[in-house]
Amino acid sequence: MHHFEYKSGRLHCEGVDLNLIADTAGTPVYVYSTATLRRHARVIAAAFEGQNCLIAYSVKANGNLAVLKTLASEGCGADVVSGGEMRRAMTAGIPASKIVFSGVGKTRGEMALGLEIGIHQFNVESAAELEALSEVATFLGKTAPVALRVNPDVAAGGHPNISTGKAGDKFGVPWADAPALYERMKDLPGIKAVGVDVHIGSQIGELAPMRAAFEKTISLVKQLREAGHDLTRIDLGGGLGIPYKSDDSPAPPSDYAEMIREVTEGLGLEVILEPGRVIAGNAGVMVSEVLYHKPAPDRTFLIIDAGMNDLMRPALYQAHHDILPVNEPAAGTAETRYDIVGPICESTDKFAAERTMPEVAVGDRIAFMSSGAYGAVLSSQYNARPLVSEVLVDGDNYAIVRRRPRFEDMIELEQMPDWLI
Ligand SMILES: *Cc1c(COP(=O)(O)O)cnc(C)c1O
Repeated sequence: MHHFEYKSGRLHCEGVDLNLIADTAGTPVYVYSTATLRRHARVIAAAFEGQNCLIAYSVKANGNLAVLKTLASEGCGADVVSGGEMRRAMTAGIPASKIVFSGVGKTRGEMALGLEIGIHQFNVESAAELEALSEVATFLGKTAPVALRVNPDVAAGGHPNISTGKAGDKFGVPWADAPALYERMKDLPGIKAVGVDVHIGSQIGELAPMRAAFEKTISLVKQLREAGHDLTRIDLGGGLGIPYKSDDSPAPPSDYAEMIREVTEGLGLEVILEPGRVIAGNAGVMVSEVLYHKPAPDRTFLIIDAGMNDLMRPALYQAHHDILPVNEPAAGTAETRYDIVGPICESTDKFAAERTMPEVAVGDRIAFMSSGAYGAVLSSQYNARPLVSEVLVDGDNYAIVRRRPRFEDMIELEQMPDWLI
């Protein structure tokens, strides 16, 4: 469910014509819908009503400060994977008590930041990280609340590159090692084991692999409790999928919440969730302008002003985005087949191959739907292209919430060594 639709022949975000945003902010441009962000946060919160639950939005999906502030005002916490994301969450007004710190490679500096502001939980992913966290916490005179991220050896996720819960993945501690690590935590200064954490992947459309992983994790919680560990939390990660195509039908949040209620019932655990994509994905589009038609012997290339540096998902995961013309095609507009490509000097700079869609003219805008998650955050300045602007819409209002850097901004951090001056 989202708030992008045709009104008077133009694709709108809520009350605002995307052409108007493209005219003022330039293209390519990311456009986010406040109503959609709020709706998704509320649907999830409502689904979990009655459960003791912290919804820690995964900042890595879309860390724009205005997006974070919108979600903070809905009561969301944050799941962060770096010191920078932690600072973003704090800057947007998310209290430390609702911040969970995940990731396989936390530095000691990042650990210290989390300890100093007093975050809710550290999700620890290895024995070595546990020892380091203990040292940092002891040095600072703090106690780190820890959940060990376990690897349940369950396959899931829409693409091998976003599956994280198989035995060969770098994430989590091997299942068999977990009990000994919890024993170790009993003796480690500055560490308090508070729960168990699991996150098996992203864009998961079916509940079965999640249920399998969660049931396995719950059995571990019970085993650890019997061994004398006072565990009060379970962190079930993120990963719920979204519809990228109109006929996709991933499990709805209500079914997901019901499954979690069944799995965790009667255990008195605080349930922590780390949804990213399901909140931000369908709340954003990327708008681009058609630069050229380039006919080739067997196809027509539609060359647009966005590149893989602006929206990486197709190049990185062979991901599909629905692509809609911003000007609604008039009745009877011919359909045609395009290879839709960007200006970057890489063959992977292709958004869609042999895509059938209504004919579009040079100068027309097209919208990449469902680009709100893992879109702007993954962008780069490759080919010396400035980062794309981001715009937030709220009803009939819109504002640029990240401006495009000027050329001077882009080179500001570089300096000539004195022998070249
Ligand atoms: C990426 C990630 C998430 C969010 O995943 P989504 O599929 O966007 O919901 C949550 N937790 C961890 C540890 C992650 O790495």
